[in-house]
Amino acid sequence: MRILEEQRDFFSKQKTKDVSFRKVALKRLYKEIVAREGDIAEAIYRDFKKPKFETLAAETQFVLAELKLTLHNIDQWASPERKSGTFINWPSSDWIYKEPYGAVLIIAPWNYPFQLAFAPMIAAVAAGNTVVVKPSEVTPHTASIISEIISAVFVPEHVTVVEGGVEVSQDLLAQKWDYIFFTGSTRVGQIVYEAAAKHLTPVTLELGGKNPTIVDETASINLAAKRIVWGKFLNAGQTCIATDYILVHKEVKNKLVAALKHNITKCYGENIEQSPDFSRTVSKAHFEGLKDMLKGEEILFGGNSNNEDNYLEPTIVNEPKLDSKLMKGEIFGPILPIIAYTNEDDIERHLSNYGKPLATYIFSNRKAFQKKIINRYSFGGGAINDTVIQITNKKLPFGGVGTSGIGAYHGKRSFDLFSHQKSIIKKANWFDAPLRYPPYNLSMNLVKKIKYLF
Ligand code: NAD
Repeated sequence: MRILEEQRDFFSKQKTKDVSFRKVALKRLYKEIVAREGDIAEAIYRDFKKPKFETLAAETQFVLAELKLTLHNIDQWASPERKSGTFINWPSSDWIYKEPYGAVLIIAPWNYPFQLAFAPMIAAVAAGNTVVVKPSEVTPHTASIISEIISAVFVPEHVTVVEGGVEVSQDLLAQKWDYIFFTGSTRVGQIVYEAAAKHLTPVTLELGGKNPTIVDETASINLAAKRIVWGKFLNAGQTCIATDYILVHKEVKNKLVAALKHNITKCYGENIEQSPDFSRTVSKAHFEGLKDMLKGEEILFGGNSNNEDNYLEPTIVNEPKLDSKLMKGEIFGPILPIIAYTNEDDIERHLSNYGKPLATYIFSNRKAFQKKIINRYSFGGGAINDTVIQITNKKLPFGGVGTSGIGAYHGKRSFDLFSHQKSIIKKANWFDAPLRYPPYNLSMNLVKKIKYLF
């Protein structure tokens, strides 16, 4: 593939090893994003009517904050890191060097189409790699603005965008990359992992899952409902860490349902279709899939839709069956199933139906219960008495486990992710301990006696 060869050639010239070269490029990117902020919001709005505020908070400002943090810390992150030495090697100085992998491929999804293309790309560039970004074909207006911004800032042999769908993605995956960063569904994640394995290419897989939200009988119900509604219907439920379904203690179920309904109306008004704050589902296929999930279900709220622009109202479904379409896989839309539980065995029965989710949320005022859920169940990350917010702290790793992904990023972790950690021990020549050299019989007893040899 020509672009990959050109990027390899560019990388071999060692230009990206120069941290000041990376900084200049990232500063140019910062300016370009600020200058095009309005166009970016417009493009994402054209793709699926994402409210401008959500674009500002979760796309452009999110990316600009990642850029600011990176520019502020890049000198330190890129410097060799000194580690204390060991007795056996004394005298030495011990280091970790940060080495770029080389040619990085980033494949992005459509739901946060700007953030999920740029956040990993910034880190890959900061760490000194060349990058090919493949945005999602499902959000074509955003894909083309991503392409315009990148071509205005970078030469293609450094960073470029390849637009296209599944076939283009598969062509890219057939190449030998030095690192692949993929965000998308678990199904496609498996395809990516298989392609990467052929070349032993390291990967990060940021995937999805069926995220439970557990509300116990001690929870502050009104606040819980407010925070669940916000996190669920943001981006019309098309958020990888949104609540997928609610498990609520039977004693507080009715109260929670009433509070959920109240908060949906409070956020989006009586006529939600007219609300400027509610996105559309992204495509006809996705929309039809969601409507299909509602067939035969008992709807407690919502359920209205408009085929013309893939509008599906925030919808609460009562007690769907475990083998229903709704409960089989990730919903990824504005449908919120609510299921009552009686005891902790019920919770176990539901959670054990699925792979490890990307997120789990617990609403409870009992510390012991919160602790129990965190310790007992494996999931990517989550929150107590809130939803979605774990993504906003760049000091916390963001990623899945098991079927929800491999690896985690954000902040310094993103820089480290795109850097091979090269261990180097610099040995002094003025002393050479005889301990390790044969004949060993002289050292045998001494080695046994020294407690901290390594
Ligand atoms: P997707 O897996 O369908 O597509 C993601 C990317 O892969 C796109 O660029 C697409 O062109 C490409 N692709 C699709 N099919 C392919 C194939 N057969 N071979 C090679 N490439 C292929 O995902 P999506 O629908 O864009 O996004 C939704 C999914 O992403 C949800 O499951 C969601 O949970 C997950 N997601 C995860 C995170 C995270 O950070 N963990 C973030 C956002 C979305």
